[in-house]
Amino acid sequence: MTLDFKNKKAIVRVDFNVPLNKEYVITDDTRIRAALPTIKKILADGGAAILMSHLGRPLKKKKEDGSINIEKFTLNHVTNHVANLLGTKVHFCPETVGSQATKMAADLPMGEILILENTRFQKEEGKGDAGFAKQLAALADVYVNDAFGTAHRAHASTTTIAQFFDKGAKTFGYLMQNEIENANKVLNNPTRPLTAIIGGAKVSDKILLLEKLLEFADNVIVGGGMAYTFMKAQGGKIGNSLVENDRLELALELIAKAKERKVKLLLPKDSIAADDFSNDANIATKYTKRIPKGWMGLDIGPKAIADFQKVIAKSKTILWNGPMGVFEMSNFATGTKSIAQSCADATAAGAFSLVGGGDSVAAVTQMELNDAVSFVSTGGGAMLEFLEGKELPAITAMTK
Ligand code: AMP
Repeated sequence: MTLDFKNKKAIVRVDFNVPLNKEYVITDDTRIRAALPTIKKILADGGAAILMSHLGRPLKKKKEDGSINIEKFTLNHVTNHVANLLGTKVHFCPETVGSQATKMAADLPMGEILILENTRFQKEEGKGDAGFAKQLAALADVYVNDAFGTAHRAHASTTTIAQFFDKGAKTFGYLMQNEIENANKVLNNPTRPLTAIIGGAKVSDKILLLEKLLEFADNVIVGGGMAYTFMKAQGGKIGNSLVENDRLELALELIAKAKERKVKLLLPKDSIAADDFSNDANIATKYTKRIPKGWMGLDIGPKAIADFQKVIAKSKTILWNGPMGVFEMSNFATGTKSIAQSCADATAAGAFSLVGGGDSVAAVTQMELNDAVSFVSTGGGAMLEFLEGKELPAITAMTK
C-alpha cells in the first residue's frame, strides 16, 4: 500500500462476515485478523479508519413481520473484539449511511476506528446503487478495499464506491493485494511444472476452472466426488458413487481436451469404497472403475495417493481446490490429508503452493499446515472466479 494516510479518513471495505454462535459470540475470527495489517497501517500513518462490511444475509432472513433482524445481524457483534485486537478506541454507528453516520465520521478523531452498521441492511448494497455508494464515499477522504472474499460482487461498498475517489485516493489493502499477487503467481508465467489438484463434490461447479486449467497447467489431478463422473463417462462401474449423469459428455470432452493440449490428466485409480454414506459403513479399497453395486467411492485409495504424490513432488507450482474425499468423516479423510501433506512437502522443497476454495482450506487448517503451504486464500468464490480468468468487478473498479 503506497498511500500515506496521515490526517486522512479512510473508508475501508473489510470482510467481517464471521461465524457467530447462538449468543452472538465470534467462533472464528480469521477474517477479522486478516484485515488487521491494513487497519494498523492506516492508524500508524496517523489516519482514522471507517470500517464497513456485510454480515450474513439480513435481507434474505427477515423476521416474520418483514423487518430486519437487527439483533442477529448487527455488525456491532464485532466491535469489542476489534477493539481488543487493536487496543484502539472503536466506535459503532447503528447506521450505514445517514445523518448519524455523517456526524460520527466527521467527529472521528485520527487514530480511532468507526464501524458502520451491516452494509447489507440496505437493499441498495446488493444492487450496486450509485446513490448509496456516494453517501458512503462522502464519509471519508480515501477508499481502501481489503475484502477479497466479495471482490466478485459488484456491490455498492465493494465496487460502485470506487468511482467516487480519484486514482490517488483509492487502493487495495494488504490482504487484497496478497490474494491478487499470489493468484497471479499461478496465472502469469508460473514456474513449471504447474500442477492443479481439483476435488470436491461436483464437476458442474468446477467446469470453467477445469477448462481454463487445461489451457495452461501441465498436470491436472482430479479427485473427490467429481472423479466418478469422469470414470463413468469412460465406461467404469461406479456403484452408488456421486455422479452427474448430465455431465458425462462434458467429462469426455475435458479428457479429449487434455490429450489434445498434452496436459496430463490424472484420475484416482483406486478408491476407498463404503456400503453406506457413513463413517460406520463397511469399507474396502476398490479400483475406481470397478466399484461394486451398492457401494460408493468416498475417498481416493492408496494407489491414487501414490500416483498423485509423485506428480506433486515434481511440481514447482501447485494450485489446490477441493477435497479428495468426504474428509469430514475420519475414515474418508486420508486422501485429503495425504495431499495436504504432499503440498507441504513440495513447498518445503521449493515449490509455490496456493490453496484456495473453502473445503481444501478447511483441510489444511485442520492439519495445521497453513504455514507449510505458500498461500492460503481467504476468498472461496472470488478466488475460484479469479482463477477461472473472470474479471472481478471490485478489482476492475480500482483501475478506472
Ligand atoms: P466442494 O464444495 O465442491 O469443494 O465440495 C466439497 C464437498 O465434497 C465436501 O463436503 C466433501 O465431503 C464432498 N466430497 C468429496 N469427495 C466426495 C465423494 N467421493 N463423494 C461424495 N462427496 C464428496
